[in-house]
Amino acid sequence: MGKTWIIPENVTKPITERVNNIVEIYPDKGIKNVIIVGGGISGVFAAIRIKEKHPSYKVSIFEKNNKLLRKIYATGNGRCNFANQGNLKNKYNHEGFVLPIIESFSSFEITQYFERIGIKYKAVNDLLYPLSDTAETVALMLNKKVDQLKIEVHLEESMIDYSSSSLTTSKKTYPFDYLIIASGGKASPQYGSDGNIFSILKKHGYSLIDPKPSLCPIKVKENVNLVEGLRAKVRINLLIDGKLKHQEDGELLFKKDGLSGIAIFNLTHFINMENTQKRISICVDFAPDYDEISPDQYVQFLHPRLAAYLTKNHLDIHKTIFTFKSFYDFPNAQVSAGGLSIIEVNELLKSKKEKNVSFIGEVLDVDAICGGFNIMWALASAEKVSNNLDDYGKEK
Ligand SMILES: Cc1cc2nc3c(=O)[nH]c(=O)nc-3n(C[C@H](O)[C@H](O)[C@H](O)COP(=O)(O)OP(=O)(O)OC[C@H]3O[C@@H](n4cnc5c(N)ncnc54)[C@H](O)[C@@H]3O)c2cc1C
Repeated sequence: MGKTWIIPENVTKPITERVNNIVEIYPDKGIKNVIIVGGGISGVFAAIRIKEKHPSYKVSIFEKNNKLLRKIYATGNGRCNFANQGNLKNKYNHEGFVLPIIESFSSFEITQYFERIGIKYKAVNDLLYPLSDTAETVALMLNKKVDQLKIEVHLEESMIDYSSSSLTTSKKTYPFDYLIIASGGKASPQYGSDGNIFSILKKHGYSLIDPKPSLCPIKVKENVNLVEGLRAKVRINLLIDGKLKHQEDGELLFKKDGLSGIAIFNLTHFINMENTQKRISICVDFAPDYDEISPDQYVQFLHPRLAAYLTKNHLDIHKTIFTFKSFYDFPNAQVSAGGLSIIEVNELLKSKKEKNVSFIGEVLDVDAICGGFNIMWALASAEKVSNNLDDYGKEK
């Protein structure tokens, strides 16, 4: 049906090698200490997968909040859109680096694994959500797994710094064999990810890409406060120096001083990929499914207040231009664009300069548009590191 295969409930489904990999256990000799900084989705998932594959290892998570997975409860409007089964092209920055990692633990493997730990799922178009329609299920089942596997959890304990073999937190110093940094970026600091990690990484000589808010509302130069609170189904063209860069269909929401809505959030991802010196404008078609409409007919298509705003300002219903001024700040952003430069890690996400340190999730300069792609990166990058902690996975 369209892009979707309907598989009858009662047929035997194929078991592929990729599924078998999900339960692989590596033949370790001896105990090693694995420390994960950050108890968000990437850190928790890495801890679970490492402990499953290396049962003799001691795996600990250090989280500054008073509970794990604090941000997950807020995702997808409380429903947690944890992956996307659609096309991955043109969704992430650094595609050449990101897509091989995502493709090796794609939405297929994620849903297989989630079902195994009791997170049933459903697809809404290509967006994947827990069947229960609440992020609490995801947090509950992952927390349950953390308990079952006896992963050591240190709450309200922040990383202050680290050396080649020990982690210093706000409370103590702990030895490690492997350190995994999963501290997130700067978006939504109210959930813990305040970007304090970046001053630590700078001290360690890492190159950073200045983090910017992404998937957030934008401020525009035009005065839109008269239409604040109005919503419209629109087609939006992102113009960079007058040239079409990206097109989105979706809902637009007017704020007091700018624009919001998923279509605008997605645009911020593409704006962030541009040089900020360029002229950035947003051309809105408020009636993309209709041909010529004269100004006296606008009111037949739009909220009367919006129709009056367009006619009063002599704006074209098919081509209303707004000029980008700035992003809303980090507390309003779902992700940060920027972070640890990908040139600092290899394709297994291991640091090139500190041999037992790896980076996963949003702390890296990887971000995507809305639709489950960001959590998918958090999960796939965690899986990648769990496969390659020692030499066992030998994945490339
Ligand atoms: C409102 C909202 C809705 C979203 N909805 C979706 C969605 O539906 N689908 C989607 O794909 N993405 C969504 N995202 C984005 C997604 O949540 C993130 O990309 C993802 O959570 C990143 O995971 P992470 O583990 O890398 O970082 P985080 O989830 O940010 O976790 C990092 C953790 O590290 C901790 N930490 C930071 N510094 C330290 C330190 N020094 N010591 C100890 N702990 C530290 C933080 O407290 C935090 O708990 C949403 C984000 C927001 C804010």
